[in-house]
Amino acid sequence: MDLKELMQQSGIVGAGGAGFPSYAKLADGADTLVINGAECEPLLYTDYVLLQKEMPMVLTGIKAVLEYAKIPRALLCVKEHTAKRLRLTDGKKLDEHIFLKTLPDVYPMGDEISLIYQATERVVKPGNLPITSGVIVLNVETLLGVGLALKKSKPVLDKYLTIGGDIPEAIVVKVPIGTPIAELLEKNSIIIPEGHVLIDGGPSMGKVIDPESAVVTKTTKSLLILPPDCEAVRTKLISGEMSIARAETACCQCTRCTDLCPRHLLGYPLEPHKMVRTAKGAATVMPEMVVTANLCCGCGICESLACSQGISPRAVINEYKALIGKNKMRYVGKDEVSPLPERDWRMVPSERWANVLGVAKFDKVGKYIGEQTDFTRAEILLRQHIGAPSVPCVKDGDRVERGDVIAQAAEGLSLPQHASVSGTVSVYNDRIIIEKDNA
Ligand code: SF4
Ligand code: SF4
Repeated sequence: MDLKELMQQSGIVGAGGAGFPSYAKLADGADTLVINGAECEPLLYTDYVLLQKEMPMVLTGIKAVLEYAKIPRALLCVKEHTAKRLRLTDGKKLDEHIFLKTLPDVYPMGDEISLIYQATERVVKPGNLPITSGVIVLNVETLLGVGLALKKSKPVLDKYLTIGGDIPEAIVVKVPIGTPIAELLEKNSIIIPEGHVLIDGGPSMGKVIDPESAVVTKTTKSLLILPPDCEAVRTKLISGEMSIARAETACCQCTRCTDLCPRHLLGYPLEPHKMVRTAKGAATVMPEMVVTANLCCGCGICESLACSQGISPRAVINEYKALIGKNKMRYVGKDEVSPLPERDWRMVPSERWANVLGVAKFDKVGKYIGEQTDFTRAEILLRQHIGAPSVPCVKDGDRVERGDVIAQAAEGLSLPQHASVSGTVSVYNDRIIIEKDNA
């Protein structure tokens, strides 16, 4: 079996992002593997801990990808503050053909397009894949998965994640995929105060989830408990219709949202102020502009930092993204673009971004507390990745061992699922629940 097949059969996804099946990223023609350890948003310490604990296995994964895809060099990219904590310096050789690359402490460095530019000084043509610029981007946890699959024949079964926010101490913990979040919080004596919300992901780009029903998935990078009055949460509680209504009535066309947009600053034809100007009627008035919505990385700078009128260009653009997605459209640029000269001094320092979101006061370095496994069950979702959901290959009452395949990859872009614990299964439409033997 070659590496690509192994990655698919091991169920490896882009850990932390949208869950793109990583095997599908391996293609010919790359001269650089960029490893994303940027840990872009405030309050997250998962990649930092993972590099601290698992660097040899991550390097094993990197070497395998370099060899398979015939890539001559890899750049392991982390922010300056992470490099300092890991006692690594810019340019340090970590292994044959593998070098550390430090990134400035600015937001949003983890955005794939910004990361590629910062690491290689190449701007991917708008709407094109990184491979068109000779680059493949993989996350550090993805490469840990590759290392484990190769050295220990282990598919993706566990997840490192940060639990932080408005709690006395931030922690990083390793748990089986499918762990019920309510049990995880209870085990660690973490209580969500009345009115606070739980976010899966970073404070800006993460999503509010229900702690009672949510479970850890392959893309859970962090769980943040935040109060409703901080900017990071306030913006998540406004509906799409309200955002459109505000945009139509309050926008003064100051253009600040476009001036500070990181994708616009890289030379992309994305102009949020124009999207807002035409809000509801944009699809008919300027269809060629609406289709540029897929160039937005969803960072939220336009919403939380740029706009002084309480408008969310990001929310308006999200409506357009849904519209163009439904119509199977996307913007794919043919021409090269270059960063604007003002980019250098318009980037947002990470510290400022944390203050803008109202979360700086909750920032505590996550303390690694090790692996926790004594939960009653695991709920393995059949869709934890982009593409077709996995197809169950077990039936109610079957007994499975940790590591067994419980759902096969579907046709096309898809991945299998594995039992992260041993026990007895119940099969549902969207998940397989494994009740543990000792529960
Ligand atoms: S969220 Fe706003 S600032 Fe960020 S990329 Fe999209 S339009 Fe630009
Ligand atoms: S920053 Fe706000 S007011 Fe200014 S153009 Fe953008 S949406 Fe309109």
